Amino acid sequence: MTQNLTLKTRFPPSPTGFLHVGGARTALFNWLIARGAGGKFILRIEDTDQARNVPEGTEKIIRDLKWLGLDWDEGPDVGGPHGSYLQSQRLDIYAQHVHKLLEAGWAYHALETPQQLDELRKQAQAQKRTFRYLRPDPLPTAGEAEAARQAGKAVVVRFKCPDESVSVNDEVFGQVEIAADELDDFVIQKADGYPTYHLANVVDDALMGVNFILRGQEFLGQSWRHIVLRRALGYEQPRYAHLPLIMDMQGKKLSKREADIGVYSFRKAGFLPEALVNFIALLGWSPGDNREKFTLAELCELFDVSNIGKSNAKFDRDKLLAFNTAACAAAGPERLLSSFKDYLSLNETPIPADDEGLLCQILAITKGFRTFADIRAKCGVLFESDNTFDYDPKAVKKVLAKNDGAGFAVLAELRRMLARCDWQGEALEACISDYCQTKELPMGKVAQPIRVAVTGRTLSPGIIDTLMILGRDKTLARIDRCLQLPR
Ligand code: GLU
Repeated sequence: MTQNLTLKTRFPPSPTGFLHVGGARTALFNWLIARGAGGKFILRIEDTDQARNVPEGTEKIIRDLKWLGLDWDEGPDVGGPHGSYLQSQRLDIYAQHVHKLLEAGWAYHALETPQQLDELRKQAQAQKRTFRYLRPDPLPTAGEAEAARQAGKAVVVRFKCPDESVSVNDEVFGQVEIAADELDDFVIQKADGYPTYHLANVVDDALMGVNFILRGQEFLGQSWRHIVLRRALGYEQPRYAHLPLIMDMQGKKLSKREADIGVYSFRKAGFLPEALVNFIALLGWSPGDNREKFTLAELCELFDVSNIGKSNAKFDRDKLLAFNTAACAAAGPERLLSSFKDYLSLNETPIPADDEGLLCQILAITKGFRTFADIRAKCGVLFESDNTFDYDPKAVKKVLAKNDGAGFAVLAELRRMLARCDWQGEALEACISDYCQTKELPMGKVAQPIRVAVTGRTLSPGIIDTLMILGRDKTLARIDRCLQLPR
C-alpha cells in the first residue's frame, strides 16, 4: 500500500466569483480519493488571469469548501512545503520553466499580432476547416522577438507540439487518442509575460507532487498538452480521470454562470451541507448498487474511481430537495439549530436569530420541512409587526368572508373566549374544541379563521403552536385587526 500513501490530488479553481456545484463535485471527488487512500489533497488557486479574478474570490471558495466539510493538507490558508498556493505568487517559477523550454528548443517566440491571428481564424472559418496555428519556418530568433517586444508588439511563447499522436489514458473515458494533425503549437506564455493555464497548471502539479488528476470532462481535450509539456520538462506522468458533464433537467449543460448553482446559494436557500454533499457525490458516481444515502465518512470508505460513469449526470433539483428533507429529519437538534442559525444569519428575516429556545421551538413545530426557507416562509409572519403583515385576499375571501362572513362570525366569538383562556397548550386546545362541539363545527372551520386572522394566510404551523408562539396579546391584536378588514 506504499503507493496509496503517496497519492496526491488537488483542486485548482480560478477565483472567478463563487464555487459552483460542478467545482464542488471535482473538489469532493479529489478529496474522497485522497482521504480514502490516506493520501494528500491540495487546494491551489489559479489566479493568473487578471481579467477573470474577482475580489475575495479565494476567500469565497475556501468558505464554501469548508462549509461542505472539506479540508486540505496544503493550500493558500494552511501553507505547505510547496507554497505559494496562489499562482499569482509563482510567476518567476513559470518564467524559469518557459526559459528552460526555450533553451531546450521545445518552445519558440511567436510574433503574430492578435489581428493577424483573427484574420487566419476567419480564413479557416470561411473555408470550413478548423483553425490550426502553423509553425513559422524559419522560427523567429530571440533577437527578432526582443525587437518586436521593444516595438510594443505582442510576443508570446508557443510550445512545439510533437508530430505524432498523443494518447491520454483516462481512468473514466479510457484510451483517448489525439491524432497528430489535431495538435497545434499552443501558447505557454502570454504577451504580458503571464503563463497560460496549461503551463502554470502542469508546472505546479509536477512541483507539488500531484500524481492523480481528476477534473471535469471539458478538460479531457486539453490533457494531451499537459502530457507533452510534462514529457518536455522531464516530469513523470500522473494518472488522469475526467468527470462526466452535469446537465440540467432539460439536457442542457449546467452553466457555470448561473448563480443559483453556487454552493453558497444552496446554503443561503436553507440546504444542509450533508444533503448537498450526498447529492453531489451521485453526480456521475454510484457505489455500484442502488444505495443513495451516504455521510461524508461513508463516502470516504466507498468512493472508487472505477465507479465513475461516462454518461452525463443529471442535476435533479427535486431529488436534492428530497435529500435535504430527509437530512433535516435525520439531523440531531444541535446540528439543526446551528445550521438554522447560520441560515438566518445569511437572510433577512423577522425571526429572532439569537433566541435559541425559540428557534428550537420553531424547529420542533415545523418538522417535515424541506429547507430552512420553508420555515422562514411559514413562521416569519409570526414575528412581523401585528399591524403591518399582509392579509392574503384569497385566504380572507375563502376562509372568512364566504357564506355571509361565517368565518368572521366564528372569529368574533372565539376572540371573546380566547381573551379569557389560560394561555397554555392544553387550555387553548380545550377552548377551541369546546367551541367546535358547542357549535357542531369541524376543527377546520374554526382553526382556519384563526389562522388567517393571525398570519394572513392559510398555511402556518399547527394552530395551538402558532398561538403559543404569538402569545395572548399578539393573537388578540391580530384578530382585532382582522375583524376590522373591509368586508
Ligand atoms: N483552473 C482550472 C479550472 O478553473 C483547473 C483545471 C484543472 O483541474 O486542471 O477549472
